[in-house]
Amino acid sequence: AKSNGGNNLQVFNPVMYSNSQKKLLMENALRKSIENNELLLFYQPQINTRTGQLVGVEALVRWKHPQLGLVGPEEFIPLSEETGIIIPIGEWVLREACRQNKQWQEAGYPPIKVSVNLSGKQFSQELVDQVNQILTETGLAPEFLDLEITESMMMDANHSIRILNELHEVGIQISIDDFGTGYSSLSYLKSFSINRLKIDRSFIKDITKNTSDANIVDTIITMAHKLGLIVIAEGVESVEQLEFLISNHCDECQGFLYSEPVTSMQFENKFFRNNNS
Ligand code: C2E
Ligand code: CA
Ligand code: CA
Ligand code: CA
Repeated sequence: AKSNGGNNLQVFNPVMYSNSQKKLLMENALRKSIENNELLLFYQPQINTRTGQLVGVEALVRWKHPQLGLVGPEEFIPLSEETGIIIPIGEWVLREACRQNKQWQEAGYPPIKVSVNLSGKQFSQELVDQVNQILTETGLAPEFLDLEITESMMMDANHSIRILNELHEVGIQISIDDFGTGYSSLSYLKSFSINRLKIDRSFIKDITKNTSDANIVDTIITMAHKLGLIVIAEGVESVEQLEFLISNHCDECQGFLYSEPVTSMQFENKFFRNNNS
């Protein structure tokens, strides 16, 4: 390579480098992202479908690189997982989400839970200690932390049930993200350690036009309630979708209808300052 990296704009010039070189440059930049304070969290509200009340917020990571601009998770999480950088990034996300939520509570805003996405790579025995330490450090009560895991993390059932039980004992909440898109069996739902199913956006998208999707969503909600689980729908974009979800007793909703993910300051202004109902 021509330059030594640093702040040279040429580093990411797509014409100059092969894919593997670009990957290496990206990897090196990603390794420095935490110490350089380049990571930030965006926040998206989760709303009680029936009352319209704010009940939670999902924290979604972004990478603000001096040359690349604002990079979304889909562009750097896979490489982070491949290289192991997801471990420090995941820990940073957990700590920052808990810190922010505690700060909102200390400002006197009505307490809500914060949902944090976990990578499969983070889903190990060490996670339990890490979560405990972060809760102690930030002073956030465990019931205000919700961990979003995916069905694929449940493949090794014995291993995951043990971790889930330990996290559950700590008092934090567990949600199954992208529910309905994975390959795992439903047997893990018998575990008491899960609080919530998050119906994947792909089922919500055509809910008002496609009878199969409508039936699937209706059935997931009924099943979840019979198992004592809370149901949240993601990707709610229209009033028609919301109306379907209200009449089918979906507990919580999240999506562009309410807000796209925004900065902590925008979230505060939009959802705490104006609307305290
Ligand atoms: P996800 O967990 O399914 O997060 C929801 C994604 O859908 C977010 O994209 C959000 O901006 C988008 N979204 C929300 N509402 C709507 C809607 O109404 N319509 C549509 N079309 N999209 C909506 P984002 O922020 O780009 O995140 C993408 C994925 O990256 C997330 O999918 C999650 O799997 C992953 N991710 C985000 N933050 C983290 C993190 O801190 N750690 C890990 N391991 N993964 C993360
Ligand atoms: Ca999620
Ligand atoms: Ca999701
Ligand atoms: Ca998804």
